[in-house]
Amino acid sequence: MNYLSTRGDATPRKFCEILLEGLAPDGGLYLPETYPLIDATRLDELRRIYRDHGYAALAYEILALYIDDIPAADLRALCAKTYTEAVFGTSEIVPLRPLEPGLYLEALSNGPTLAFKDMAMQLLGNLFEYELARRGETLNILGATSGDTGSAAEYAMRGKRGVRVFMTSPNGRMSPFQQAQMFSLLDANIHNIAIEGVFDDCQDIVKAVSNDLAFKRRHKIGTVNSINWARLLAQVVYYFAGYFQATSGDDRLVSFTVPSGNFGNICAGHVARQMGLPIDRLVAATNENDVLDEFFRTGVYRVRGAADTHETSSPSMDISKASNFERFIFDLLGRDGARVKALFGEQLASTGRFDLSADPAFQVCRERYGFESGKSTHVDRLATIRDTDARFGQLIDTHTADGLKVAREHVRPGVPMIVLETALPIKFAATIVEAVGREPGRPAKFDGIEALPRRVRVMPADAALVKAYIEEQVGA
Ligand SMILES: *Cc1c(COP(=O)(O)O)cnc(C)c1O
Repeated sequence: MNYLSTRGDATPRKFCEILLEGLAPDGGLYLPETYPLIDATRLDELRRIYRDHGYAALAYEILALYIDDIPAADLRALCAKTYTEAVFGTSEIVPLRPLEPGLYLEALSNGPTLAFKDMAMQLLGNLFEYELARRGETLNILGATSGDTGSAAEYAMRGKRGVRVFMTSPNGRMSPFQQAQMFSLLDANIHNIAIEGVFDDCQDIVKAVSNDLAFKRRHKIGTVNSINWARLLAQVVYYFAGYFQATSGDDRLVSFTVPSGNFGNICAGHVARQMGLPIDRLVAATNENDVLDEFFRTGVYRVRGAADTHETSSPSMDISKASNFERFIFDLLGRDGARVKALFGEQLASTGRFDLSADPAFQVCRERYGFESGKSTHVDRLATIRDTDARFGQLIDTHTADGLKVAREHVRPGVPMIVLETALPIKFAATIVEAVGREPGRPAKFDGIEALPRRVRVMPADAALVKAYIEEQVGA
């Protein structure tokens, strides 16, 4: 399998060549040349592999379709090492929980940091360690986080050979639980940098450091952000696992609702559907930051300025633009790289929007690709959390609540609807208390985490200071 860029650069690249990369050299995102098709016979085989050998075996089968430059035995071992009960808390890894007839939650948040990002990041940690050892190289990962991404990256990379993590976060702005989770990591290769500023300041610092090409090369600076293809690929697996759990035969359709921010998670659903997984609808649920809902309703993609980006109680969906969206638009426009380049590289950069409402491709978007969307606000979130607790005795997190609220608006008779549970409620305790008047429970391994010793460096929002800190640590 070769990979190409959404902006037209078709230089064939292998999986391991793009594994450690961010954007393609032309500014586009990497996608496979084709989506391997799973026919009915193969789907039935995969169902049996999943039933008899579990999630890791299924993951191997899916990944092997896209990765032909890691020997099969090694890839199998990497999957087996990643998707274990010890790491993900249950032998099913992604158990499906029925809520009401035809409506399910797929639990993706029982990994080390209690958010679905662990599903991909844990694999990425093992892939990075494997590939860096093979090359005899090291990598310094620099990132910006408002919570879930940074902790998932740190828990995936801690103790890994050849990798250091430098993670900036806005000082004092993550939830107390998230701060405790990240800052209590004492591993020598994990560096927490709390920036005196907001999340945008952290992102600006990462950009400034990455734009210093000499520094970037000298210190082998890399990223693990959500545009990484390997992360997206790892997420394709749980759409298959959810499908197999919700159905007893392959003649059935299911729909998924996905709490969405950067469009990574739901884009994996799009890939699964393109491969032939019988998905009826893919419903993108947004919060008050409704860039994606607006597009699917109107055909207009309009990125928001910092001033129009709301700080909400589902903060991991607070985005001003959806960084993986370009992948879907590339497919929607018949993989016309020149057109994607004009839209994302030129029009969006100069006007902040593009309009596909009159394009025939947009008009068949729903029928061809199954996409629908909806929006949920703080009031909806509280009501959904309260209702789910009262009627089903299940406490759900704020992002999952956005998903559930929107899912109910898109349920179709006879088609099971699966809502992806993207985090556990303990990560966003303040809003849970606001909704139901009590603290959410926490897994035993996080008892007393707030009292543990912390390792974090507080710094003014200044890229030069962050660079100096990296230099000092890499030299040490
Ligand atoms: C990251 C995140 C999302 C958004 O996922 P995308 O892949 O960016 O669309 C939703 N919910 C939670 C809890 C997250 O951490």
